[in-house]
Amino acid sequence: MPDRESDLDNFKIYSNTSSWGRDYVAAVCEDCDWNFLILPDLQTVHCPHCYKSTLKSIPEGEMELPYSRAPELVVPFQITLESMDDGIEKFSSKIPFAPKDMTSQNMRSRLCRLFLPMWLVDTEVQAQWWAEVGSNYKVVSHQAHYDDHRGGWSSREVEEGRIRWEPRLGRLGRNYHNISTPALEEDMIIKQEMGAFKLGEAVEYQVKEIENSFVRLPNRDTKDAWVEATPAIQTAAAEECRQAAGADHIRQFSWKPQYSNNNWTLMLLPLYTTYYLDAEKVAQPVFIHGQTGQIMGVRRASMKRGQRMSLIILVIAVLIFLLSIILAVASVALPILLVIGVLGFAIALLTAAGAVVPIAMVWQFNRRQKAGRSPYFT
Ligand SMILES: [Zn+2]
Repeated sequence: MPDRESDLDNFKIYSNTSSWGRDYVAAVCEDCDWNFLILPDLQTVHCPHCYKSTLKSIPEGEMELPYSRAPELVVPFQITLESMDDGIEKFSSKIPFAPKDMTSQNMRSRLCRLFLPMWLVDTEVQAQWWAEVGSNYKVVSHQAHYDDHRGGWSSREVEEGRIRWEPRLGRLGRNYHNISTPALEEDMIIKQEMGAFKLGEAVEYQVKEIENSFVRLPNRDTKDAWVEATPAIQTAAAEECRQAAGADHIRQFSWKPQYSNNNWTLMLLPLYTTYYLDAEKVAQPVFIHGQTGQIMGVRRASMKRGQRMSLIILVIAVLIFLLSIILAVASVALPILLVIGVLGFAIALLTAAGAVVPIAMVWQFNRRQKAGRSPYFT
């Protein structure tokens, strides 16, 4: 993640968000360094990303907002609360001795709506292009084969699909609208962990779409984002050249584009964030994809619950042990009881050894989780 200094250098100067429909203030979490737009009355809330610190508003002038114009598109939240409950239950069911606090009721009561930014760029392109375009055609041939049972030689018709390639060149003048490109350094991790967003379901921005929500500010400037936008433009251009040539295929497309009038806007993507308290009362963030319900977060097993279970098993072992002693003493009167008593000792020993299992399970599970992915998108 780039440091804030270099972010500031790259961002243009903005002073207000009135075109967003509400006056937001910029806020920062000093723990995870994520920047947000929030409503002024939300300033005392915890960071909806790491849940470690409360957000601090950034005094005007200290950091310019990276975008003063209202976003162009918003992908709305789509998952139902029921499917969210199912997802949370599935998430916690994979944890042995899940923390007591990890219930869908708790996690739902702490839900935060967070929008992640994505850049959209419009551009005009003038270009010369070269490519090989291919047209499908069919070749009919005859194959002869010999069959004793069918009176010797016979032939049958075989149809084969082929492509005829020919070179083409041309000029192209086009406007491309809303080519999406990442506005966050963490974009790749988010996609890998939670899956992509269905951008086709975006609607026009209206302030009501982002009521009671946090908006994550871009940490990637448009110069960097442009580098990732151009391959998508080239792919779109190649497809258009194929169509213009009336061809079925295109390959080795190359071009010399000249871009002009780039216009940058934002699209917002929906993410729920919430948390649960682990056994040490530390908030562990959990992220829920606003369209698919896909969950990402660190699963922490509760050592306290593991220890309690170990203690219960140990108490059972002691009881079996005591019972075995009683049986051994009673065997003076009834010798057969000695066998049961000895068997009891063995069972007590095995049970006592088993008492270590819950603690070991929790320890190993938490260790594996720690070695795995990061709890945050960083
Ligand atoms: Zn944070």
